[in-house]
Amino acid sequence: MAGAAAAFSLAQRGWWVDVVEAASALGAGASGLPVGLAAPHVSPDDNVLSRITRAGVQCTLERAQALTQAGALSAQDWGLSGVLEHRIKGQREDPLGKRLPQAQAHGSTRASETQMAAAGLPSDCPALWHSQAAWLRPRSWVAAQLAAPGIRLRLGCVVQRISHSAAGWALWDAQDQLLSQTPALVLASAFDTAALLQDLANQESGAFHNLPLHPLRGQISFGRVDALPAATQRQLPPFPVNGHGSFISGVTAPGHEAAHWFIGSTFERDCALAPVRPQDHLANQARLSTLLPSLAPAMAQGFEPEQVQGWAGVRCTLPDRLPAVGLIDPVRWPGLQVCTGMGARGISLAVLCGEMIATQLESQPTPLPPELAKHLAAQRFVKRHASRLSPKLPERAPISE
Ligand SMILES: Cc1cc2nc3c(=O)[nH]c(=O)nc-3n(C[C@H](O)[C@H](O)[C@H](O)COP(=O)(O)OP(=O)(O)OC[C@H]3O[C@@H](n4cnc5c(N)ncnc54)[C@H](O)[C@@H]3O)c2cc1C
Repeated sequence: MAGAAAAFSLAQRGWWVDVVEAASALGAGASGLPVGLAAPHVSPDDNVLSRITRAGVQCTLERAQALTQAGALSAQDWGLSGVLEHRIKGQREDPLGKRLPQAQAHGSTRASETQMAAAGLPSDCPALWHSQAAWLRPRSWVAAQLAAPGIRLRLGCVVQRISHSAAGWALWDAQDQLLSQTPALVLASAFDTAALLQDLANQESGAFHNLPLHPLRGQISFGRVDALPAATQRQLPPFPVNGHGSFISGVTAPGHEAAHWFIGSTFERDCALAPVRPQDHLANQARLSTLLPSLAPAMAQGFEPEQVQGWAGVRCTLPDRLPAVGLIDPVRWPGLQVCTGMGARGISLAVLCGEMIATQLESQPTPLPPELAKHLAAQRFVKRHASRLSPKLPERAPISE
């Protein structure tokens, strides 16, 4: 997602982009998830995360609309459905902080009684309605962006190391064959971004403080809608619901024609493995009981072992739960940018990050004001370790999708 978004942003500005991808097909990493949400984060004080995700979701929706108009995406691939956010007591703060007007101006309002009833939630339950929010199928999303003119996609090319010289950047495979040469390189290879940077630093002398990327495993449970009892099918909310994981229904799963339901996701720290596990289906079933208590009992049949399917992936996160974007060390490594650490919000943030990279390369105004852009800057980690002047970031900020 990060690589495709940056490639599209650059190609739109007339760059020839060589996308070098290790896997033999798209959707190899976390971006292979069957479906996910682009939805704003709302906080009573309209904090940095809220403002950044709002800008990010807007960028994602604009790009999805443009790709749909161009015929690269269809109604099967995404939908501006709106999302109902169940503000579960004790997990998310009261939405009616004094800054709610900022969120309201961008389409986040109190959910109506009709919307609450459609989700099977009691009318006094705290909930927001995000009109500017969408479900999206990431594999189609990635493919649509990479199909843009000016982008050459090379699958099955594992970058083993990178090097730089006066001529620019070179990418090498495990047999030390040159894969590509370029004046400007964007590393959007999730965890391997740190591995490639470390190898580069090892080739040279001098200390290097790498990006502190952490794995965060997640599993989605899903099944066919038509395999559920007819009464349960009628109970399914007509739009996605989030707030404690997310529930989406009526979307086709990869490789299927039929409509499916999806509930996710689990969050498991420090786990870099992604097998599908039965106990994680149980965790998702428990999650559904909190998110949509009246629907959960009716969905029990869907979680029977012969019906439920799963997909698991590993999110690549940074301690402050925001991506690392842009030049990592412009003096030492001019022309080398990174775009990683999308965490649990790649759908909401990757396009914004791609735009930040492209505007930097083109010396155009960035899509975020400087006071927000600095929170995404890849250099924040390098600088923080180097000078120890910046305030310490929380080691583990709260996680949500
Ligand atoms: C269960 C789950 C549910 C999620 N739900 C949501 C959601 O609802 N909304 C949302 O916004 N986000 C969601 N996310 C997060 C989202 O999926 C990620 O943020 C996003 O996919 C990260 O994209 P990426 O491109 O940075 O990383 P990846 O998708 O991991 O892509 C990295 C790519 O780099 C390639 N690569 C790596 N090393 C090399 C190398 N050496 N040479 C060449 N290529 C290389 C890989 O093959 C891969 O294709 C979810 C994640 C999970 C796991």
